[in-house]
Amino acid sequence: AISIRNLSKSFGKKRALDNVSLDIQRGEMVALIGASGSGKSTLIRHICGLEIGQAGQSTVEVLGSSIQHGGRLATKARDMRRNIGVVFQQFNLVGRLSVLSNVLLGNLGRIPVWRGTLGWFTAEEKKAARAALARVGIPEVAWQRASTLSGGQQQRAAIARTLVQRSNILLADEPIASLDPSSARRIMEILAAVNREENITCVVSLHQVEYARRYCPRTVALRDGRIVFDGPSSELTNPMLVELYGANSEELI
Ligand code: ATP
Ligand code: MG
Repeated sequence: AISIRNLSKSFGKKRALDNVSLDIQRGEMVALIGASGSGKSTLIRHICGLEIGQAGQSTVEVLGSSIQHGGRLATKARDMRRNIGVVFQQFNLVGRLSVLSNVLLGNLGRIPVWRGTLGWFTAEEKKAARAALARVGIPEVAWQRASTLSGGQQQRAAIARTLVQRSNILLADEPIASLDPSSARRIMEILAAVNREENITCVVSLHQVEYARRYCPRTVALRDGRIVFDGPSSELTNPMLVELYGANSEELI
């Protein structure tokens, strides 16, 4: 579903991604771990074409089409993004809109013209949005303003929006970083269920390897913009993390 070749990216002198190559198959659930600054967000932003790699050999393919190549964004990148659901750590929702409206925004892109208010979405779209909220376990907050939700509820609503979007790929950048452990577990369970039942390819960046081991069969670990481990999550032991990350391993264990 995702194929990355020789992807490098620098910000000034800082090498955020250093010759990253990575293949993710359809239906996989992959954890992306690494200490702060290792390049997790940068990699995720490249996969959805929000960031463009350096000119040269770099290619990023999503669902069989190139979204960027040799430092250039593909012309169809905008269309391709509709197939890629993205959930961030925060600022996922439009706070002053209702939760239901936020979820309905997942339909944007399928609609030729922005139809403005909630009233313009079709009955089927609203039904699908409500079903998506039920699917993530928060049907009761549909009419609440998004700004009034707890962190965990906001993440659920953001996942519901990607379900409405009917994306084949879900990229979640530290979706549990600001949540308490029980909300974090619930979000990971929802992502795992969506991955399993809808066969949506999930890439989830995480700060702690514990969650990767528990919920993601495969882990990709970054250090200073390089992939230092890629394999079954169960094989990534704590001593190995200490070896790979030194003092930074405390952040991950
Ligand atoms: P965290 O766990 O803190 O979210 P991360 O693994 O997501 O970290 P990135 O945000 O991808 O790390 O950043 C990788 C490196 O690139 C960091 O050194 C960061 O400072 C740098 N960087 C990322 N985006 C930019 C930018 N837009 N401008 C300048 N430097 C950037
Ligand atoms: Mg980040």
